[in-house]
Amino acid sequence: MSSRVEVLTARDVPLGGPRSMTVRRTLPQRARTLIGAWCFVDHYGPDDVSVTGGMDVAPHPHTGLQTVSWLFSGEIEHRDSLGSHAMVRPGELNLMTGGHGISHTEVSTPTTTVLHGVQLWVALPEPDRHADRDFQHYAPEPVTFDGARIRVFLGELAGSASPVRTFTPLLGAEIVLAPRARITLTVDPAFEHGLLVDRGAVTMSETSLAQAELGYAEPGRDTLTLTNDTDAPARVILLGGPPFGEEIIMWWNFIGRSTEEIVEARREWMEGDGRRFGVVKGYDGDPLPAPELPNVPLKARGNRP
Ligand code: MN
Repeated sequence: MSSRVEVLTARDVPLGGPRSMTVRRTLPQRARTLIGAWCFVDHYGPDDVSVTGGMDVAPHPHTGLQTVSWLFSGEIEHRDSLGSHAMVRPGELNLMTGGHGISHTEVSTPTTTVLHGVQLWVALPEPDRHADRDFQHYAPEPVTFDGARIRVFLGELAGSASPVRTFTPLLGAEIVLAPRARITLTVDPAFEHGLLVDRGAVTMSETSLAQAELGYAEPGRDTLTLTNDTDAPARVILLGGPPFGEEIIMWWNFIGRSTEEIVEARREWMEGDGRRFGVVKGYDGDPLPAPELPNVPLKARGNRP
């Protein structure tokens, strides 16, 4: 009864900076804007930071979304205009709520030699998209399930539940599969799911996924079967949530619902008075300027049912 898993491939996107770090982006793309409220999936590394220069993202704003930082290796120093100062470390969730407006910086630490992880965004639903800025940290206890070690950072899976608050139901988990392991997970049939392969080659239900690919499964399944097709451990990130019913406009670091809102957010950021986005303290460098807006209205995008 369930349809096939759809394979979404990554495109390389240079993040900018002096030596420029490149990320593999699987969401959004032409074929798909959202998986649940997940609207942005960037996967990077393993990068030798002595070659790439690591990560150094100057103060920049966000609206209408939450950012999720999850590392496999390395360390990132996070500062935001709420006053949060946190170290992002492997296996620990850092969830920042932009809401009406926040600004932050992300810098890999001097002791980092290999940087490897994902940067994910969650779209906020209409009633909550102007929420107060917020920052939550959570280090899930790994659980073992058949031939897998699972860290559930958002939502619930394999008997492990995250206490982190979200505005729509969400699932976010790191799964390490033993060589040749095959596991069947019970999932919420109201959720659609995305499976990002970080390392190895993994079959999601009947569909093979290569490294850096994102498999998409429609709602309506109550189980997902994952198979490690290799003789080494495989690592994946499983994302899920009920289909997000709204169309969104994503432009630069903003999510809104109309061109006017985005123009206004850009104007307030460029004015730089800190009223809407606050000020990041402790970062040595200038804020990132927003790019020029196109001369045509921005297009709202969503997933057709
Ligand atoms: Mn950011």
